[in-house]
Amino acid sequence: MSGAPDDSKAVDEFSVIAELFAPLTRGFPGALDLTDDAALLAADGANELVVTMDAMVAGVHFLPDDPPDLIARKLVRVNLSDLAAKGARPHALTLAAAFPRDVTGDWLRGFAAGLGRDLDEFDVPLIGGDTVSTPGPLTLALTALGKIPSGRAILRSGARPGDTLWVSGHIGDGALGLRVALGTLHVTPADDEYLLGRYRLPQPRCPLGPVLVGKASAAMDISDGLVQDLGHLCRASGVGADVDVSRLPLSAATRAALARDQSLLASVLTGGDDYEVLFTAPANAETDILMAGKDCGVPVTAIGKVRVGQGTSIRDAQGREITPARGGWRHFGETESGSSL
Ligand code: ADP
Ligand code: MG
Repeated sequence: MSGAPDDSKAVDEFSVIAELFAPLTRGFPGALDLTDDAALLAADGANELVVTMDAMVAGVHFLPDDPPDLIARKLVRVNLSDLAAKGARPHALTLAAAFPRDVTGDWLRGFAAGLGRDLDEFDVPLIGGDTVSTPGPLTLALTALGKIPSGRAILRSGARPGDTLWVSGHIGDGALGLRVALGTLHVTPADDEYLLGRYRLPQPRCPLGPVLVGKASAAMDISDGLVQDLGHLCRASGVGADVDVSRLPLSAATRAALARDQSLLASVLTGGDDYEVLFTAPANAETDILMAGKDCGVPVTAIGKVRVGQGTSIRDAQGREITPARGGWRHFGETESGSSL
């Protein structure tokens, strides 16, 4: 199989999951073959539990010097984002924490304070976990349990040709915020602060998920970049999709950054850390979806179409396909040396 994990290649997360771990579900239906954001477990007859776990490692998912309260809150939020994408309401959390040996009491108190703040904000309790010490970097894993009426979870696999493709909030802020954090992007001081805030403290779309139940045909949250995650949704649904790049919802800060350097579009589309909900719905539900977004206070934008076939195409305002290239984007068929957008 192409991309199979072997000793000669760097480990590819998705082939490891598909080839080594997916067989271990032993056909458990709620595991969804490990192709979704979360698993489903029967709860009390009327409801299912939606179960997801996301881990974060210092230096990979956040910067080691990030404030401890924000690290804790990001950990909560990236997990609640998966629950929201399934249409579930947060129910309970467990936390596994491996702290470096030199962690200080002040740091731990800051971490716990941040955790407490978001548990209050999202009205969800911490019900257990494990605490260990590590010679390596700070490593955190959180399991989030959500609740949803049985059979109502929005899966990645329900998109159908003709459906409209939607996204919540703004795309690209998190990826550009990481660049600001790394010192490789400067827009204006106010824009930098906004983008950095979006990277450090994503906004899980908890109010949106439940209102999409029964309306959206498929959904997932965007954690690894719009292009890659749309690819996952399309594969799970057995469809293709076209995104109109001119319809992408971009914040004023991201627009300002792109106005200075169009090659940043690659980061916007592929960079990740958005934690927005990507979803599909029948074309005749557009008004309904816009109203639902308005009612719950989460803006939603139609960005493209689901089609028969496979693969995802990113198109410019003229409908011409563009593809990522080193240093930016190029129109489909152009060589990299002639890349432009
Ligand atoms: P997300 O980005 O939404 O958190 P992932 O791409 O991390 O989703 O995971 C996709 C699927 O693979 C999920 O069902 C997840 O539970 C599963 N998965 C990921 N890593 C492992 C693992 N180490 N063991 C078992 N299942 C895993
Ligand atoms: Mg997800």
